[in-house]
Amino acid sequence: MTKFLSKALEGLVQSDIRKMTVECERVGGLNLGQGICDLPTPPIISKAAISAIESQKSTYSYAEGVIDLRQIIAKKLERDNLINADPISEICVTVGATGGFAATIHALLNPGDGILIMEPYYSYHLNIARVAGLDPQFLTLSPPRFSLTEEKLRAAISPNTKAVVCCTPSNPSGKMFDENELKILAKVAHEYDLLLITDEIYEYIRYDGRSHISPATVGELWERTVSIMGLSKTFSITGWRMGYTVAPAYLMKAITLVNDLYYICAPTPLQHGVAAGLNMPTSYYDSLQSSYQTKRDKICTALDGVGMTPIIPQGAYYVLAQIGHLGFDTAHQASMAILEEAGVASVPGSSFFQGEAGEGLIRICFAMDEEVIEEACRRLKEYGHI
Ligand code: PLP
Repeated sequence: MTKFLSKALEGLVQSDIRKMTVECERVGGLNLGQGICDLPTPPIISKAAISAIESQKSTYSYAEGVIDLRQIIAKKLERDNLINADPISEICVTVGATGGFAATIHALLNPGDGILIMEPYYSYHLNIARVAGLDPQFLTLSPPRFSLTEEKLRAAISPNTKAVVCCTPSNPSGKMFDENELKILAKVAHEYDLLLITDEIYEYIRYDGRSHISPATVGELWERTVSIMGLSKTFSITGWRMGYTVAPAYLMKAITLVNDLYYICAPTPLQHGVAAGLNMPTSYYDSLQSSYQTKRDKICTALDGVGMTPIIPQGAYYVLAQIGHLGFDTAHQASMAILEEAGVASVPGSSFFQGEAGEGLIRICFAMDEEVIEEACRRLKEYGHI
């Protein structure tokens, strides 16, 4: 039946993340592989969505989203991102950050265009680009600092490069791009006339008092940037499929058109739910941060204690641990051994790089209940003493 398969899907296989989930279920392990984020949704958000359903707010919204929500997003952008976006023409509510990313690349890029992806990468960026017929290009940022230099960036650009993806805070590394790095990005993007596509879904999950810088606010980047934001992680609503995209009107017009064609709109009653969430006081975000900080610190201490040196994440809720010295041939073998022997599932670092750079790493996700984290730490400790 392969005659019916799109050429764009050739070579695309089930991700290691899903494979590890299946393996984890087989051995009844703790799944710290997939970033499921099964924490409770704030009741104010669920209640607002339920009330929207009960009051029949169930029809299509504008393709760009319910106007009240876009106004609330505009205020949030001004307060937390220092972005001044017009809620009428510069914001589109999307089916998750993923829907925003897909709509963006289909609206603004053409098959054969080069899209520069920094690795370690989030594999959806790569695979969605492949399905869109783009030419993925890679810029390897090296552990443990994952620093972006002008030299590296220039060297990674090809004559057909049209766009760069910047995920900050990053999945899987937890790296947050600092102002100097973003200035480099601004300078080079201007020089080569590149579109910048950000993924800021983890903007509120960051550690040690760090601030998030939205790339669109640096230098002249606003004019050439599509900022993709998500609510899945901020409100623990990964299954709701809610996100939004922000860009100057001349780009947003095309993105909204594609959003309409693919999705018509994001789920209307859920848009009302997240509007209530975005009105929560900033103390909500403070407590989100401190709860993740505790988990990050616990898991990093446990990893350190068993010689799987953690690359301490600055943001997001994953940690890359260095396992290269433990004697495994590949990261996949290391992940499988840790699953079989400690009952803790992780993702092999090779899932986040094209070349060998990931073979000495595994990724652990700590977006779990405190008890699950405690149990994972206990199991890792025991494993370390075998
Ligand atoms: N972007 C990054 C970097 C992610 O890690 C994830 C989920 O793990 C997503 C996007 C998915 O976002 P959404 O649920 O809003 O589609």
